[in-house]
Amino acid sequence: MSEQGKKSRRTQLVHGGSKRSQWNEVSEAVFLTQGFVYDTAESAEERFIKVGDDEFIYARYGNPTMRMFEDRLSGYLGFEDGFACASGMAAVNGALMSLLKAGDKVVASRALFGSCLYVLEDILARFGVTVVMVDGTDNAAWDAAITEDTTLVFLESISNPTLEVIDLKHVCNVAHGVGALVLVDDAMATPVFSYAKDCGADLCIISTTKHVDGQGRMLGGLICGPKEIIRGSVEAYMKHTGGAMNPFTAWTHLKALETLELRVRTQAKGAFKLAEALDGHPKLNAVRYPTHKAHPQHALASAQSEAAGTVLTFDVKGGKDACFRFLNALNIILISNNFADAKSIATHPATTTHQRLPDEQKGMLGITPGLVRLSVGLEETDDIIGDILQALEAI
Ligand SMILES: *Cc1c(COP(=O)(O)O)cnc(C)c1O
Repeated sequence: MSEQGKKSRRTQLVHGGSKRSQWNEVSEAVFLTQGFVYDTAESAEERFIKVGDDEFIYARYGNPTMRMFEDRLSGYLGFEDGFACASGMAAVNGALMSLLKAGDKVVASRALFGSCLYVLEDILARFGVTVVMVDGTDNAAWDAAITEDTTLVFLESISNPTLEVIDLKHVCNVAHGVGALVLVDDAMATPVFSYAKDCGADLCIISTTKHVDGQGRMLGGLICGPKEIIRGSVEAYMKHTGGAMNPFTAWTHLKALETLELRVRTQAKGAFKLAEALDGHPKLNAVRYPTHKAHPQHALASAQSEAAGTVLTFDVKGGKDACFRFLNALNIILISNNFADAKSIATHPATTTHQRLPDEQKGMLGITPGLVRLSVGLEETDDIIGDILQALEAI
């Protein structure tokens, strides 16, 4: 397509992937149907031999609403194709299981979301896949771990919850040097500020539960990558194992994508402003937002993207007790374990999302007893700052 004919990214979020039914509706239709009717026995036979681009067989394989969503979001992220999954973890598990086999070696960053750690360390190990974990912020560690026998590299571009930043171009170059695929979990970076494709990642996973839904309602996920892989091994695995997204979720996601940039840019600005307001507060250590100067990797984070998600972290001095007093004194910010909601949310990872990990591993990952992960919502930022300052007083 010519540069002129190409949609800008924001227009892609509103119109990308749209297909109209014979009624010519303005708003995308939700097709709540499990199956599809064939005019003749012969056409049913034909479709089972080869499914055409706008043809469907069964909603576990694909559905028009799901297809619109896949095309819109994967196109926005710069990938050829995508498969919509029932949750972010269905996407993580689906991508790994469809790409790996016994005897393969995976190199992964150590700072990962708890469930991703479980899939890598507990499930893949049971099927004879070797997993080597490295400190993702250390380029030399990647260089040493990625060897000729590496099949796949898995990482979170920005880690949950500790906001470690990975030099993605470097890791992609090293991986491609030995013919390994790079699979990026981009939940924290957000689709708006994703740089996975630009830095050379082969595949990218988005937990659409986070910023795409953005209003705490739906679970969903998307695996994006080259058409050959997505419509090949990924689709084959997903359609036969039942992890597809439900059409109603795909429809709410299509509507949510229309406002994605407005929401995420506002929330990211809020997160930066909060980091600025809290950095240096006498009751806090280590205020971190990747592109803010207080983050040790802010130069790398700023080189990779204009902003870095909608979450910041800080460490409340005085450990768990002080931290719980702070959390319990919040008036507007909610205590919960999700992030990327329109409502601001504070999480205590050490006792919730990462409770399962032994203390030693928590220490290694930087999940301290005072660590708070703060997801910045769509409220007036000054109200959120005020809520935090009064709760810090209450300690
Ligand atoms: C939330 C999250 C997931 C899992 O997504 P679900 O939609 O909750 O299944 C995976 N990876 C990361 C980094 C996440 O933050």
